[in-house]
Amino acid sequence: MTRPWSSQLMAAAILGGALQSGRVAHAYIFCGPKGTGKLACALDFAAALNCQRDGFERFQQGVCECDSCRRTQAVVHPDIRLLQPAGAKIKIDQIRYLIKELWQRPFAGKYKIHILDQADRCNVESANSILKILEDPPGQAVIILVTDKPSTLPATVRSRCQFVRFVNLPIEEQGRRLQSKYGLAADRAKLIATLGEGNPGRSEELVANAQLDRYRKLAQTVVTGLGGRNDWELFALVKELEMEKDGLRDILHLVCALLRDLVCLSATDQGVDLINCDKERELALAARGIPLGKWYQAFSLVQEVEADLERNINKRLLLEGLVFNLHTLLATDGTSSAFDR
Ligand SMILES: [Zn+2]
Repeated sequence: MTRPWSSQLMAAAILGGALQSGRVAHAYIFCGPKGTGKLACALDFAAALNCQRDGFERFQQGVCECDSCRRTQAVVHPDIRLLQPAGAKIKIDQIRYLIKELWQRPFAGKYKIHILDQADRCNVESANSILKILEDPPGQAVIILVTDKPSTLPATVRSRCQFVRFVNLPIEEQGRRLQSKYGLAADRAKLIATLGEGNPGRSEELVANAQLDRYRKLAQTVVTGLGGRNDWELFALVKELEMEKDGLRDILHLVCALLRDLVCLSATDQGVDLINCDKERELALAARGIPLGKWYQAFSLVQEVEADLERNINKRLLLEGLVFNLHTLLATDGTSSAFDR
């Protein structure tokens, strides 16, 4: 059975070891980038801790039909609580309720397990209450703090928890996983693993994204298709990009991936390991016409725009700047836009 955290070998070893030896910590911090399966793993670990058969096997296999595991699956286990922020913050009332419950004996299972998702959203008051229970934890209590920003938790809380780290994978490994899980061709798996930066969740989102090929076409237009376009056509392209609300981030990422390949191809023609390996011929041809320095400039231009978009600077203006500057920089047929004159 494939689970979102199945590639997290270190986390699996730490938690599997705890289940097998029975040496379970009172408090864990599951930390790492979004999309690495932290919360799913916390729920699997909680199920395994209270499994009525073999908890270690439940954790390894991901399935068990015992009464306790079925209740966990249905999110109705009386001893396993998942607490998520109510609004922007985890409220002190939520924490007080959690602490009161943790002091009660387990109702049906061996452990009383409370999982705090996005634990970094605790305010100071909530964090102090958590600290109190970590200083003197009740016997069967296990608290799992799940976060992608562990450094924002107070040091006093962090020092009382065992860290379980979740990581992005090397591109090759993520690519192999996509190949075996989705039956993708090697080129496609590598492209998606690279675009997803080795993040399992992000890569799987890209596999499921039906727009990916359209986004690639658009990205290619931005990089190699600006030559010969007049200002109105460039404005039309800006508008087209602006309409891509959620997809814009992906498109710019694809633009960067193309420019990265063009930088490599322009620097050397021998043994380049391309991200867009299915477009090798077209890219080699494009790389020939333009000096390396310009590809570099284009690359940093796009990265600046990506960063500015994150800061919510006017999207239309940023995209206009991007398209017209790239046109000036990369269009090779001698036509210039009104912006250069
Ligand atoms: Zn079970």
